[in-house]
Amino acid sequence: MSKRKLNRRQQWRIAKIQQEREARARKKEQTLSQAEEEGDLGAEQTGLVIANYGTQVLVESEAENQEGSELRQRCHVRSNIDTLVTGDRVAWRPATGESTGGLGVVGARLQRHSELQRPDRYGDMKTVAANIDRILIVIAPYPEPFANAIDRYLVAAETTGIQPLLLLNKIDLIDDTNRAHLEELLRPYPDLGYPVLQLSTKTGEGLEQLLDTLAQGTSVFVGQSGVGKSSLINGLLPGTDARIGELSEATGKGTHTTTAAELFHLPSGGDLIDSPGIREFGLWHMSEQELIEGFAEFRPFIGHCRFRDCRHQSEPGCAIQEALERGDISQRRMDSYLHVRNSLENE
Ligand code: GDP
Ligand code: ZN
Repeated sequence: MSKRKLNRRQQWRIAKIQQEREARARKKEQTLSQAEEEGDLGAEQTGLVIANYGTQVLVESEAENQEGSELRQRCHVRSNIDTLVTGDRVAWRPATGESTGGLGVVGARLQRHSELQRPDRYGDMKTVAANIDRILIVIAPYPEPFANAIDRYLVAAETTGIQPLLLLNKIDLIDDTNRAHLEELLRPYPDLGYPVLQLSTKTGEGLEQLLDTLAQGTSVFVGQSGVGKSSLINGLLPGTDARIGELSEATGKGTHTTTAAELFHLPSGGDLIDSPGIREFGLWHMSEQELIEGFAEFRPFIGHCRFRDCRHQSEPGCAIQEALERGDISQRRMDSYLHVRNSLENE
């Protein structure tokens, strides 16, 4: 078959898919208008997206009802709205009658103050959660943490503009063999604007302080496998029924279960957004520009080197090296920067 023929067939197929998509959208809009005419939708109000089921979202009313519990409803999403993700705030109308099939309607997405993104399987960045206030980077004595790995998480957090914190879990495992190393490792961070919290999920030591930190806004936990994220999150959420756990059923496919994020209210205050994909945050590729800008204390010196293509190693007139000599940049963070840059080049 010639190349041209194939292309024409592909074009035809794409056009057909597009037509079907438009027909579906028209049909949905018709159902929605009908519901509005029949008065089966309540007044417009603001809500929070708890989970995204693909074509529908689970929305929670921000207005508490008389029993003090939140109204939650699955909703259609008007076709003029860009993708909704967990954590989005929306303007919506709850279903009050039958004609909508009990489905509410989301009419608009409110502005996001932050976005967490990750690459899809084609490498394009996709937003997976919105309106997050803090990223807790979990580390532990075991598996052994490395400075450059911690810094890489911090850089990834810096690209989002969301406040990162370090959470040292498993402090019950600290003893004379690892104490000095951990203190040395974590020493620079508070001065760089990254608070360090300590916790033992096992003994509960440090839990009060963590709960205080989580009590305001929305948090996510990230970090390498084995540091105790699952144990910690399960401990924070009472009973497994806190989880919606029906994402795959809703879509009829298993694929969404691995990436769909869910929002949880913590009993002690604050919200948590979690998904396996979110826990992997920071592990994907970043550009050299993102990398150097993610070292917050390097920023005042970026662009001030004598050579535009300076590698910040042994070039004369390097503003980064001069900052290092003056002590405005620590050797530890410089080593880390060069190490990560090297590994990015080899990825
Ligand atoms: P994840 O991969 O980050 O989700 O880590 P897991 O929650 O699966 O935990 C990995 C291992 O660390 C499990 O065997 C947990 O029981 C253990 N673990 C988690 N938190 C603590 C802790 O505070 N202290 C100790 N000693 N072990 C912990
Ligand atoms: Zn330089």
